[in-house]
Amino acid sequence: MTDGPHRLAVIGAGPAGLAACLAAAARGVQVTLIDAAPEAGGQFYRRPASGLGARRPSALHHRWSTWSRLEQGLAAHLEAGTVEHLPDHHVWTVERTGQAPGAGPGFTVHALIGPLQERSVAVRADAVLLATGGYEKVLPFPGWTLPGVVTAGGAQAMLKGGLVVPGRRAVVAGSGPLLLPVATGLSAAGVEVAALVESLDPRRLSRAAVALASAPGKAVEGALYAFQLLRHRIPFLPRHTVVEAQGEGHLEAVTVAALGPDGRVRPGTARSIPCEAFAVGHGMIPHTDLAEALGCRVDGVNVSVDDEQRTDVPGVWAAGETTGIGGAELALAEGHIAGRSAAARLHGTAPDPSPAARVRTRTRRFAAALDTVYRPPLHWADQVTDDTVVCRCEEVTAGRVREAVTDLGAGDLRTVKLLTRAGMGWCQGRICEPAVAGLTGCEQTPARRMPARPVPLGELARAGADDDESHDDGNDHAPGRDTQPPKPTHP
Ligand SMILES: Cc1cc2nc3c(=O)[nH]c(=O)nc-3n(C[C@H](O)[C@H](O)[C@H](O)COP(=O)(O)OP(=O)(O)OC[C@H]3O[C@@H](n4cnc5c(N)ncnc54)[C@H](O)[C@@H]3O)c2cc1C
Repeated sequence: MTDGPHRLAVIGAGPAGLAACLAAAARGVQVTLIDAAPEAGGQFYRRPASGLGARRPSALHHRWSTWSRLEQGLAAHLEAGTVEHLPDHHVWTVERTGQAPGAGPGFTVHALIGPLQERSVAVRADAVLLATGGYEKVLPFPGWTLPGVVTAGGAQAMLKGGLVVPGRRAVVAGSGPLLLPVATGLSAAGVEVAALVESLDPRRLSRAAVALASAPGKAVEGALYAFQLLRHRIPFLPRHTVVEAQGEGHLEAVTVAALGPDGRVRPGTARSIPCEAFAVGHGMIPHTDLAEALGCRVDGVNVSVDDEQRTDVPGVWAAGETTGIGGAELALAEGHIAGRSAAARLHGTAPDPSPAARVRTRTRRFAAALDTVYRPPLHWADQVTDDTVVCRCEEVTAGRVREAVTDLGAGDLRTVKLLTRAGMGWCQGRICEPAVAGLTGCEQTPARRMPARPVPLGELARAGADDDESHDDGNDHAPGRDTQPPKPTHP
């Protein structure tokens, strides 16, 4: 048994990580909250940097009162010393360095610090809770690399985090409920939203009506967005998709077209919409790299957890979008359950039943129903011309990816990558893999992408040095944290 309180490292300070942190700290666990962002809040509670002097940051959010409660709870624990918050810490790997919880420090979290991410620090903990959220699925189309084309989440991050808009006239397109807050948020910020282009056929929503009705609050939210679309006079184009983005050096217009019942573009329906910005979103993909590094089971694309949000690796919990995409309310519920469970298990007891379990059941059912209706158009890859860049890191075109299959006989994503270098670059295929899979028809399989963040070679070399070599990160020593070099980790 370790001296002093049990130590839990929570990675990710979004809704899930914050809820987990507060639940565990309230139950006598010493929490280290680690996040790559400079401020807590994650994707949903992203706020303008303090230097921007925003007078009413709440205007860009809904459910601000929940954020206020989380923020106050965090501040109280920081003050009491029961939580340590490490912002600007980019975790590149987590390793098991001890026995099971209760028998000594079990895990070491390695994080690159600061905006330059050049130095690594190690955080020791008895248990780890992964709340790293998800990232946006990007599907290419001709012109998608033009300046002015951004992801839907990117547009929202610019607005919420930087108080800037991507252009004066914008088109929002893709598929998924996240397009609604983006279109209405841009419009409320003064952008002329020339169209909201959604590939969903609204009739599919009625087919999932029973499951969707399980979350009446969400139906109200949907109705409010519909009202705002009307109020801001945003033209809504359902059963439409993007064909291409055009411009000389920067975006000038996008071409969209209607989809037929077979998911293909209907001939003769293409129309060009002039715009300066194009925000495209096709849903989210969970971050699973750290879970995979620890050997946790991943089902499909989601980290697998039990009713207490425990992974199948003892001492490792996961909550929020890393276990499946489902929205902020689900992330909060899962985080709370995970934090309670981690605290109880670290104290050697079982957690009491949590009222959040009912919220989790309801919101998971709702998310699963949404997942069946919101899909990218079945034949989106038809629009991707051979000269379209698919892998931006290695500048590989769709033509080369297709040739790898048709001319060279590749039958899986790994072989396509070896033949074309698509997915070999800086992002390690996180961005282009869904696109390459869609273009080639190859199955997307869970991929181990270690390390989770690019690590400078010098830092890896330092990681191989003796444990007692000093490695000063320039910060104060804090409980659960040391300035020893990380143990060797082989990417
Ligand atoms: C454009 C957009 C609009 C949305 N609108 C809505 C909405 O209207 N309603 C709704 O319910 N939901 C909405 N969502 C979804 C909502 O943001 C998420 O459901 C919610 O934020 C998930 O919470 P989370 O804690 O699981 O993950 P996140 O909020 O994504 O937090 C994850 C945190 O982990 C950190 N992290 C990740 N990897 C690392 C690493 N290796 N090292 C250190 N830190 C790391 C990140 O910096 C981040 O702070 C929207 C999402 C997007 C993209």
